[in-house]
Amino acid sequence: MLTAAVAAARQPAAGVLRQIAPGHYVYSTGTFNSGVIATSEGVVVLDALASEAVARAARDAITRATGQPIRVLVSSTHHNQYSRGNSAYADVLKIGQENYRADLLALMQREKISGDEQQARLPGLTFRDRLTLHLGGKAIQVLHLGRAHTRGDSIIFVPEDRIVYLSELLFVNQFLFINDGYGLDWLKALDAVEALDADIFIPGHGPIPSDPRQTRQDLRRFRQMLVDVRDAVQRELARGATEEQAVASLRWPQYEKLQGYDAQRETAVRRLYRQLAGTLP
Ligand SMILES: [Zn+2]
Repeated sequence: MLTAAVAAARQPAAGVLRQIAPGHYVYSTGTFNSGVIATSEGVVVLDALASEAVARAARDAITRATGQPIRVLVSSTHHNQYSRGNSAYADVLKIGQENYRADLLALMQREKISGDEQQARLPGLTFRDRLTLHLGGKAIQVLHLGRAHTRGDSIIFVPEDRIVYLSELLFVNQFLFINDGYGLDWLKALDAVEALDADIFIPGHGPIPSDPRQTRQDLRRFRQMLVDVRDAVQRELARGATEEQAVASLRWPQYEKLQGYDAQRETAVRRLYRQLAGTLP
């Protein structure tokens, strides 16, 4: 017989489901968040997170809390920490932006994922700019605001409840992760987010304040980080620095305590440098 400690260690990374507003929840594991919109005709989930086990635990928690079946999974970024869990949603309509589907397929082919798992993770419905789900009398907008964290991100906006779920378009208390991102477009996307009639901005990474309306400040702080990175790289370019010189000289002391700063500083310089120089495809 297993001891309680051993049994607990064998459980998948336990997440926490928190209600943000009536009909709106966030399922969090560590610093990763998945959005949950519950209606009287079923549930829409944004991002399946890092593994099939995590996604199954999320599904159980969501079903217990809402008493409703999950009808739709929307996936924003193809990165493994958000898409490996897709395979737990074989019975659910999966939706993603068309570039998300192409990039997820390419990633799985590179990683030599089996054909069965590829099929289980890929979306069955793709879109280019936007679509609206009408479920339980609620209009749930799935929007692609252009390139940002990747070239295939989706956000979910529920106008009636003034809530927007941003997936990896918003990092809170973390440095930006931009391996596949486009900083200049990301800024435009964040401006489009601010222009939505919303009060609550749910991040894909990081904590949500006890008053969810304070997430507007989180959005502004993150936007300012992107502006600071862009402006510093722009100054390097203007004085004729090469990419390597920019990498060697640029530091942002105001962000150096943030998780991800050491690992991502150089990537942020390179991606912004290439986009500003016009050499990023
Ligand atoms: Zn990502």
